[in-house]
Amino acid sequence: MNGDNVQAYPGDNLAVIEEFEPLGDYFIENGQIIASKVSKVKKDKTNKQIEVLGLVRKYIRKGDIVTGQVDYMQKPFAHVIIFRVNDKKLYGDIKAMLYFDPDLRLAPFNEGAIIRARVIGLTAGHLMIDIQDEEMGVLEAKCPNCGGPLVKRGRNMLRCLKCGKSSFMKLAPDFYSSKARHINYSNIF
Ligand SMILES: [Zn+2]
Repeated sequence: MNGDNVQAYPGDNLAVIEEFEPLGDYFIENGQIIASKVSKVKKDKTNKQIEVLGLVRKYIRKGDIVTGQVDYMQKPFAHVIIFRVNDKKLYGDIKAMLYFDPDLRLAPFNEGAIIRARVIGLTAGHLMIDIQDEEMGVLEAKCPNCGGPLVKRGRNMLRCLKCGKSSFMKLAPDFYSSKARHINYSNIF
């Protein structure tokens, strides 16, 4: 086996120093190789090398605007795969967490939704994002009931063209715009 690509978070134990020669961004504590930031980790078992490539410092900072897809939801967090940061496409996918009010009967987005969010920081090693701001929210989504296409029917209301059911989501102002994923952020800042 020649290359295990995994994502690591700050503080993650990656390997024992006796077993692997570390390369890249890391620190050593008690003989353990530890990730210092959100990183892509490549383990080369043949050559006994472990390469730790920091992803966040290079690509993502607090306040940045990211685009990603809601992978799955586990109250009170949605796990989001980020594929774009400040309108630049990422090479490796970065995972982030988005808090939502667990008391809401319906979350303000659904699994599979494409969202625009702001990076609010790192908590317990996880990249945290938020969609509260006016410009943030769902860019694309499918009907939570039947998977059909949705059209906007109000500020945060959608209606399914297939089953007719209405749903509430926190929408970005350019929901379902073809330009949504390629917006020029210079007019927001
Ligand atoms: Zn539907």
